[in-house]
Amino acid sequence: MLDLRQLEAWFVTGSQDLYGQQTLNQVAEHSRAIAQGLSDSAGMPMKIVFKPVLTTPDAIYQLCLEANSAKNCIGVVMWMHTFSPAKMWIAGLKALQKPFVHLHTQFNRELPWATIDMEFMNLNQSAHGDREFGYIASRMRLNRKVVVGFWQDENIREELTTWLRAASAWHDAQILKIARFGDNMRKVAVTEGDKVEAQIRLGYSVNGYGLGDLAQCLRQVSDSDVDKLAANYDDSYAVAEPLRAGGEKRAALREAARIELGLRYFLVDGGFKAFTDTFEDLHGLTQLPGIAVQRLMADGYGFGAEGDWKTAALVRAMKVMSVGLEGGTSFMEDYTYDLKDGGKVLGAHMLEICPSIADGKPSLEIHPLAIGGKADPVRLVFDARRGPAINASVVDVGDRLRMVVNQVNTILPQRPLPKLPVARAIWIPEPNLNIAATAWILAGGAHHTGFSQALTVQHLEDFAGMAGVEFLLIDNSTTVSQFKKELRWNDMYYRLAATNLN
Ligand code: MN
Repeated sequence: MLDLRQLEAWFVTGSQDLYGQQTLNQVAEHSRAIAQGLSDSAGMPMKIVFKPVLTTPDAIYQLCLEANSAKNCIGVVMWMHTFSPAKMWIAGLKALQKPFVHLHTQFNRELPWATIDMEFMNLNQSAHGDREFGYIASRMRLNRKVVVGFWQDENIREELTTWLRAASAWHDAQILKIARFGDNMRKVAVTEGDKVEAQIRLGYSVNGYGLGDLAQCLRQVSDSDVDKLAANYDDSYAVAEPLRAGGEKRAALREAARIELGLRYFLVDGGFKAFTDTFEDLHGLTQLPGIAVQRLMADGYGFGAEGDWKTAALVRAMKVMSVGLEGGTSFMEDYTYDLKDGGKVLGAHMLEICPSIADGKPSLEIHPLAIGGKADPVRLVFDARRGPAINASVVDVGDRLRMVVNQVNTILPQRPLPKLPVARAIWIPEPNLNIAATAWILAGGAHHTGFSQALTVQHLEDFAGMAGVEFLLIDNSTTVSQFKKELRWNDMYYRLAATNLN
C-alpha cells in the first residue's frame, strides 16, 4: 500500500522587498512555524515543506518550475503573509503545473488590541495581501481551492488535508498505468469512452493485454507459493467446508490463489496500479477472478469490471485519497432495490467487492456463476459496515468527463440474506431513492461506481476541481428541478469554456 508520508506539499509565502530584511526575516520565521505546525499536526498525511519567502518575479517563476519537476511534490500551499504585488506572480502561475491551494490565514489568531501599531499591521496584512493574490488567480481563471481561517484551527486543517489527499490522488493519476485484460463487455455503452482524451486530461494511461499473457503468469506460479497463499486464506477468512483442506472443492481454492499470485505478478511486473477484466474474455483462466480482485483492491489497486477503465481509475484515486483513513473503499454497482419505505439500494457485483468495507470477518465461499461459462469462482462474502458513504461515478458525456457523487447512508441488512452468494452493501441514498435515482439517471451516471466509507464528498469535489472534471452532487439539498437546470447550465458552461477560455 501507498505511504503518503513519502509525498510532500510545498509551503510558499509571498511578500515583496519593500519592508526591509528584518520584516522579511519575521515573515520567514512565521511561515516556517506554520509549515512545521501543519506538517506535524495529527492527521496530516504528508510532509509540508517550508520554502524560502518569495519577493521577486524571478524567484516565483523559478520556484514554480522546481515544483513542476519535483517528483514527490504533489502541490503547493500559497500564502501572502504581507502584500505581494500579484503581477509578480503571473509568469510563475502560468508555468505552474502542480495543483495549488490558497491558504488565507494569519499567523496570529487575535488582534492584540492593547499593543497593535502600524508595524504589526504591516507585518500581518494577509487580509489584503491574499486578496491581491486571489485577484490574479481568478483573472487567470486558475483552478485552485481557497481555505480561510486560523491555521491551527481543526476545521482549517481538515479542509487542507482533504485537498492534500485529493492532490495525492491527482499526483498518482499522472503516473498511473491501467491494464485491461480483454476489452469492454460487448455492446455496453457507459463503460466505453475516449482513452486518449482521458490520458490528456487526467494523466493515466489505459492499455489492453491479451489473456494469454496473464495465463502465462499463472502457469509460472509455483505450487509451494499456492500452498502458502491457501494457508493465508485459511487463517484470514471463515472458509466454507468444501474449500477447506481435504474438502471436495479445495482445488478451486488453490486455483483462485494461483490466479491471485499470477495477476499480482503481472501487475507488479508491469507497474500497474489498476486493472479491468471481463467475464466475456477469460481465455486460459478456469474461473472469473473473485477473491484475487477483492484482495488486490484491499491492497490499494483500482478495479473496474467488464472493461470499465474509468471506474478502475476512479477506485484507484479513491484508494490513494483514503490511505490511513478509517473505513474502506470499493468498486461497486447499484444492483437491485428494496422499494418499500422510501427505498434502498442493494449494491454488489458478480464477485468483486473490496473486503476493506466488510463488517467483520468475510467468509470464503464457492458458488456457481450463471454467466461466463467457466468453473465456479471462489469469492469473499460479507456485509458492508453501517455508516455514511459516498457513491461516485465518472462518465464520458462526449465532450467531457463528468463525475456524479451521491451521499448515502449504509445500513446493515434488516434480515439475513442466506442465499445471496456475494459481498454486498445496502444503503439509503440522500435525499431519498426517488430524487437520487432521478438525478443520477438524468446525469447519465453509470451503474458502476467507486464506493467509500472513508472519504467525504469534499475529497472528490477537490479532486474533480484539480482535474477540471464536471462535478455533480446529489445530497440532501438536491431537488430534481434545480438539478435539471444545473445540467443545462453546465452544458453551456463547458461548451463556452472549451471555445473561449482555453
Ligand atoms: Mn458490472
